[in-house]
Amino acid sequence: MQRRSTVQKQIVFHAIDLLGHTTTDELIGYIRNHHQQVSLATIYRNLSILQEDGQIRKIHLESGDVFETVKPDHFHFVCNKCGKVSDISKKEYQTFLDEIHRKSHEEIEMISVSLYGICHSCKQKEEKKNEKVCL
Ligand SMILES: [Zn+2]
Ligand SMILES: [Zn+2]
Repeated sequence: MQRRSTVQKQIVFHAIDLLGHTTTDELIGYIRNHHQQVSLATIYRNLSILQEDGQIRKIHLESGDVFETVKPDHFHFVCNKCGKVSDISKKEYQTFLDEIHRKSHEEIEMISVSLYGICHSCKQKEEKKNEKVCL
């Protein structure tokens, strides 16, 4: 039994890892496609277990909640066109973040920043379309 539940936990974890940032629906769709034996209840149960274990986390974005595997702290960029979520390293902005901590009278426990716009590949597609229109 122990072994079986570990395998299922791994399936859920790897699916999230592979999909990057995934909504519950996307995740369920993916797992049901590749691992028919894993039930919906099992997926939900393992999502809670993985969160309790600190292996995955749920991020709240304006476009909806997504799961990701726990990685070093980072910001998120969300594409308004295709909905793709990508990571932006916090490293380059560390001075800015330190400044916020230093100046604030409150005790900041976490800084969550999400940026919204048009991703690189959507922008390229858009440019190509415009080129064709011009010709
Ligand atoms: Zn996009
Ligand atoms: Zn992320």
